[in-house]
Amino acid sequence: MTNRLRVVVVGGSLGGLFAANMLHRANCDVLVYERVPEELAGRGAGIVTHDELHDALRASGVTVDDSLGIRIPGRRAIAPSGQVTAAYSLPQIVTSWGHLHRLLREAFPKERFMGGHEVIAIEPGTDTTCVRFANGASSSASLVIAADGVRSTIRAQLFPDDKPRYAGYVGWRGMMEESEFSTRAHAELFHDLTFCLLNGEQFLGYPVAGPEDGLMPGKRRYNWVWYRPAAEDGALQDLLTDTSGKRHPDGIPPQLIRPEHVAALRRDAVRLVSPEFAEVAARTKQPFFQPIVDLESSKIVAPGVALIGDAAFVARPHCGMGVTKAAGDAMALTRAIRTNPGDLGRALQAYENERLQFGRFIVDHARRLGSFMRAGQMTSEQRRLHDRYSQGEAVITEFALPPLTSPHPA
Ligand SMILES: Cc1cc2nc3c(=O)[nH]c(=O)nc-3n(C[C@H](O)[C@H](O)[C@H](O)COP(=O)(O)OP(=O)(O)OC[C@H]3O[C@@H](n4cnc5c(N)ncnc54)[C@H](O)[C@@H]3O)c2cc1C
Repeated sequence: MTNRLRVVVVGGSLGGLFAANMLHRANCDVLVYERVPEELAGRGAGIVTHDELHDALRASGVTVDDSLGIRIPGRRAIAPSGQVTAAYSLPQIVTSWGHLHRLLREAFPKERFMGGHEVIAIEPGTDTTCVRFANGASSSASLVIAADGVRSTIRAQLFPDDKPRYAGYVGWRGMMEESEFSTRAHAELFHDLTFCLLNGEQFLGYPVAGPEDGLMPGKRRYNWVWYRPAAEDGALQDLLTDTSGKRHPDGIPPQLIRPEHVAALRRDAVRLVSPEFAEVAARTKQPFFQPIVDLESSKIVAPGVALIGDAAFVARPHCGMGVTKAAGDAMALTRAIRTNPGDLGRALQAYENERLQFGRFIVDHARRLGSFMRAGQMTSEQRRLHDRYSQGEAVITEFALPPLTSPHPA
């Protein structure tokens, strides 16, 4: 057993659990350390799944069948009046972050997942890297996987110049109980992925599993996102400031968002989006928002360390690829380790060669899709993209999907 590769995964969200499950199945000795002490399953929102994600789930030991989520037949674009402007038949399974997290946790040995362990630093040694925790503990491994998200502590230590850049807009999000829907809004919205195209904004929604993974009619939820501009030095700072005047630059917890911002969102919904989506915004208990960022890392490996998921690259959510990319990173890393037995340095180089290129590609692709948010002066190419992605036809055939061409599939 002494020649098993010892791996420490930092971060027990989806990216970390994909890597942990795959490497555990590749006979590595894997431990996961997660900052949050309690179960993470309640966090996050909806996820549109793709074939690549299904492959990664299977490689992680998860059975992919109808219990994964809700099968939707396709997509529609609607105008603010509610009139359908484009429709596209494209069966997809939509699910929730919480459901995927539960499946991946169940596939991984419980005793190897340690909550309440916040990594504060890593110390490279000759053959192993030491991981130090805020609680005074430490752990060593031949390979440390940084799956600690967009604000990665490990990336900040290794590559301090690689930082997320705010894209100039936020994604307001929420989950609404199916039982709260009016009959009319339910009939209009609950069966597919619907985009409401506004002037320089976008509202979208789709059904997902309910609490306790409920898939039966009446027990499900509706997941929605509303992309809205917020200037970095103005509206964004106000949104990030709670009632006590404290600013939360790295993201404000939902319960601290000032009620006046939620009230303004609901008023704007009545004015700007279709009546059915305005109902969704009004009846969702706790809408919250996330600033949209681009993150492009200059490097994703160092001796004995690999960055994966949002720690490595963050593409804007318009291609719905965040989780699939994290899963693809985990697959590529596992493959590189399997095909370079006993040579971790070579394996890490192979991983970086493949995923650095893909990460750059997907960030650029999602940035182009996000051109519908652009305002003010534009180059002719920016104007072309803005106009293209303000059209229902292009949105329903290109959003929430892997790009048609890519240097390497996820
Ligand atoms: C508006 C919006 C909509 C989205 N929609 C989709 C979608 O439809 N489909 C999709 O695939 N993706 C979507 N995404 C993206 C998706 O949520 C992320 O890409 C995905 O969760 C990445 O997972 P991760 O494990 O890399 O990082 P994260 O989920 O951020 O996890 C990082 C983990 O590390 C832990 N951690 C952080 N620091 C430390 C530390 N120092 N020590 C120990 N642990 C630590 C955190 O607590 C957390 O559990 C969306 C994102 C946004 C903002």
